[in-house]
Amino acid sequence: MSIELGWVHEPLLRSALFRRDVFIATGVLCAIVSGRMQRADRLLLWCEMTLMHLLACTCDVFSACMHTVPGGREHAVDLYRRALKYGDCSGVPPEIDCRAPAIDAMVESEGAVKVVFRLDDGARVESVVIGLPRRTTLCVSSQAGCRMGCLFCTTGAHGFVRDLRTEEIVGQLFAVRHVLGRTVDNIVFMGMGEPLDNTATVVQAIRVISDQRGFDIALRRITVSTAGLPDGIRQLGAAGLPGLRLALSLNAANDHLRSRLMPVNRRYPLAVLKQALQSYPLRKKEVFFIEYVLLKGVNDTPGHAVELARFLSDIPARVNVIGCNPGPAGRFENPGEEGLRRFCALLAREGVFVRLRSSRGQDIQAACGQLGAAPR
Ligand code: SF4
Repeated sequence: MSIELGWVHEPLLRSALFRRDVFIATGVLCAIVSGRMQRADRLLLWCEMTLMHLLACTCDVFSACMHTVPGGREHAVDLYRRALKYGDCSGVPPEIDCRAPAIDAMVESEGAVKVVFRLDDGARVESVVIGLPRRTTLCVSSQAGCRMGCLFCTTGAHGFVRDLRTEEIVGQLFAVRHVLGRTVDNIVFMGMGEPLDNTATVVQAIRVISDQRGFDIALRRITVSTAGLPDGIRQLGAAGLPGLRLALSLNAANDHLRSRLMPVNRRYPLAVLKQALQSYPLRKKEVFFIEYVLLKGVNDTPGHAVELARFLSDIPARVNVIGCNPGPAGRFENPGEEGLRRFCALLAREGVFVRLRSSRGQDIQAACGQLGAAPR
């Protein structure tokens, strides 16, 4: 599959690698200048493959790019399945990158495993494998750092580094499944970063993760959690991913308190957020998952429960209440088992479908709001 490039200015091509469009345009230009247009197709193919990362491709895209391989499409599908489903990349042409991010560290406690990845540019992101009796969930990161700045979150306290690329998101799953050998049944986009601040990439990652010829994780087993970006919610709704679960990290149902806890609310207050939710194409019997991190003495009074019930009165929703974990500078306190149960009972009395969720991995800084103590 390797293509001879002696007749074009290969260093020039390679130097343009950082921009896909520039790279391909440069390749075509070189072909024209060198009067070798008959080889432009092969050059383009080489460009596509060199820039391609297997973990960023659905099987259809991979097969389309591999149409010249002996055996054609069937062979490409087989290669794709072997690589993504079983972690065997031995047959993938060398031009195509299929490396997952390097695992930098790993720490395990109470059924939670925190995996720290070091990316090519040195940025670090974290994933958490949460083992439950009947299923294993992988919590993936979509950005290094985060620009949302939620007050109860360690990731937010460290600021934003950069968006992850599709292969860096999918690579977290690849490494956990095929390098660490862990089963993964569910994916939640609740790690570092705001997924809908990187929507196009996250949507492509979901397409790859749910491709039946690869990882084959059904859309109903994938949850995207947002702090509340209306444009991102609309884009996700328009992406055509039926069954995908959408979670909203709400944490307060009045604008004053929510804006204090989550700066994103100053830009997109609750009324705007609700409009976006109401326009989201839920199917029959599907609901939004509302995450409510309970902060002692901050958002846990009967009045807060009534506000929450009112906000959800015209939205199909299920509330997950979780006690806050020790976060940045120990700013907030966990209300304890009794406080959590009391708040859940208040919500249930208001007719809200509510569940109390336990949090794992606090002692290894792997629980909700604790990831990314040092994003770089
Ligand atoms: S809770 Fe989520 S959205 Fe908010 S700062 Fe943390 S990672 Fe970002």
